[in-house]
Parts: sequence; C-alpha cells; structure tokens
Amino acid sequence: MKRNIKNLTIPELQDYLVSVSEPKYRANQIFQKIYVQRVATFDEIANLPKSLRQKLTNDFDISSFNSSKSQHSSDGTIKFLFELKDGSAIESVLIPCEYTDEAKKNRRTLCISSQAGCSLNCTFCATGKLKFKRNLSASEIVDQVLAVEKQIGSKLTNIVFMGMGEPLLNYENVKKAVEILTNPEIQLIKKKKLTISTAGIIPKIIQLADDNLPVKLALSLHAPTQDLRKKLMPSAGKWKFDELIESIEYYYRKTKTPVTFEYILFEGLNDRPEDIKRLAKLAKRVPAKINLIPFHTIEFTNPTGFASELKPASKGKIQWFRKELLKLDVQSFQRTSSGLDIDAACGQLALKSLRENKQ
Ligand code: SF4
Repeated sequence: MKRNIKNLTIPELQDYLVSVSEPKYRANQIFQKIYVQRVATFDEIANLPKSLRQKLTNDFDISSFNSSKSQHSSDGTIKFLFELKDGSAIESVLIPCEYTDEAKKNRRTLCISSQAGCSLNCTFCATGKLKFKRNLSASEIVDQVLAVEKQIGSKLTNIVFMGMGEPLLNYENVKKAVEILTNPEIQLIKKKKLTISTAGIIPKIIQLADDNLPVKLALSLHAPTQDLRKKLMPSAGKWKFDELIESIEYYYRKTKTPVTFEYILFEGLNDRPEDIKRLAKLAKRVPAKINLIPFHTIEFTNPTGFASELKPASKGKIQWFRKELLKLDVQSFQRTSSGLDIDAACGQLALKSLRENKQ
C-alpha cells in the first residue's frame, strides 16, 4: 500500500529523496507545490523532472479522504464530515468569528479531529459513544485543514484540536501534523495560532511542555473538584486533581505560554457560587483564561444514568457566572452556542453517518 506524502515532514521527505538518488533540495519544492499551490497530482509539479514525478506517483498517495459532506448553520458555523480511506468518519467544525473588535473580526477557527472515535467516554460527549476506532495519521489531520480551506476559499487563522478524539493520546502523529502545519516555508498556520485541547493526560502534558511545540494548551476542566470531574470525565479518575494542576503549572513554567481552561456549564452541577470561588482559585495558579462553553445536549444518544441528568445552564446563568469570575479578576470568555440548528454536538454528525451506514 502506498504511503500518503502528507505524513512526511521535510527531513523525512529529504531522506526519501536521498534513498531514490534525488537531491534533498527537491523536498522544499514538493512541499511548496503540495501545501501552497495545492496540486492534486504529482504530474502537476512541473518544476520536477518527469522521472521524479513518476517515482512519487509510484510511491505515494496525495489525498486522505474518500469524500466530504458539509452542513451550514444560519450563524455561520459549518460542520464537515470526512470519510477516510478505511470508511471511518471524522468531523471538523468551522467556527464563525465570535468577536466584534476589528483585530479579531476576520478570525476563522477550525476545530479538527485527532482520532476516529474516542476512548475516554466523557459523559457529555457524543464522540465518546462512537468508541475508539483508531488514531488519525498526520496526513488525515493536515488534510482536514486543506479540505476546509479549499471549500471556503480562504485561509484559516486559528486551529484547535478539539474535535473528535484526545490529541495527546495520538501524540506522535499530532506532533508531526503540528510540525507540517507550522512549517515556516509554507505557513499553513502561524505559530501559537494552534491550540491543543486535552482532557488532561498528565504524562503527555509534561512531554508537550518538554518538546516546546509551537502551540497553546487548553485543558478541558469542566469541574472544580475531582469528584465531579470523575463523574463527567471517567478518565480523570486515573490521576489526582492536584497533579493535573501541577502539570499545567509545569507546562507554563517551561513554555511561558498562558493556558486556557475549558468549562462547560451544566445546570445545578458546576454553576454554583462555590464553584466560581474554586475555579477562580485554580485559574490563578498560572496565567490563564477560562472559556465558558454552553452544553449541547446529547439526547439523540439516548443517554442513561448520570449522563441523562445533564442539563445546559441557561444563557443568563452563563452571563452571571462570567461576571462573578471577572469580579474575582479572572479573565473569562463566553463562547456562543455555534451551530445549534445543525448537528452541533461533537460527534453528532459522525454518529448519524455511522447509524445510516448500518441501516
Ligand atoms: S470530550 Fe473529547 S476526550 Fe471526552 S469523549 Fe469527547 S472527544 Fe473524547
């Protein structure tokens, strides 16, 4: 089976070229043509000798997806469903700009997937119901960006690994994709405009800090205590809460990059005055901001037990929560409920596609 050329970083492509008796400098030419001019076949790379174009055609594939579908929301959100070569389905979501100030008005953020399905089974998440299928390759990660840019006809300004899967459990491929996406020669995305959002895999947070990748880190916190966090995110039980926050402090000490805490607000569960105090105390341990996220219900998954009790906090409650955090000098932002008129919850479109394929 042919490898996908988008799984190769520049040094890896140079190694390949040497192995087929071609000069290393061709690697940059190939990168330019694939990622800047977006050729669809190796034959289109006119500045390469025909013999090398033939070698590339024999040895590599250039695209990762069989097909793509999209759903457009009236608020500007676009949800993409990509079918991979093995038939797995993954999602990416283009989030419209949520800011009104001029500097941020043209922001186009794409939320991308790192795995097909997910093993962590968070109670509030539809992707968890899909179960884990496999890690995505670097090319399948990078191709989400290229496919969406092609469809919308403009460049993305921000990327966040917050779609299907836990990126830090696919560390090597995510790292390689980051290396390709931020390569200064092709600059698909600017350094630090790429965020990795994790459910809190401590050893990998440490590794991310040590590797000093050009990314920002977001922690899906969602609860200010270990007891509630374990209920919402069963994987949290593997590590102590204090150790998780210490790993975030370590990350900041090593990278000097402020951290984001993601916090979905559930009615009556984590939206009380005592939660605000605890959350503010945690957020002050490193330079950080808190993103308050409305809950997209997952009733379509027929949840049972604790998951069936989860209700979204009201808009008014989220506004109040934010104001109280600001009073305590904690920077916080309220994310809008993007794409409520389409299959908005993470994993919803992929789950629907899986069910349709089974019928
Ligand atoms: S919220 Fe993220 S980590 Fe949790 S099950 Fe969903 S995709 Fe996996």
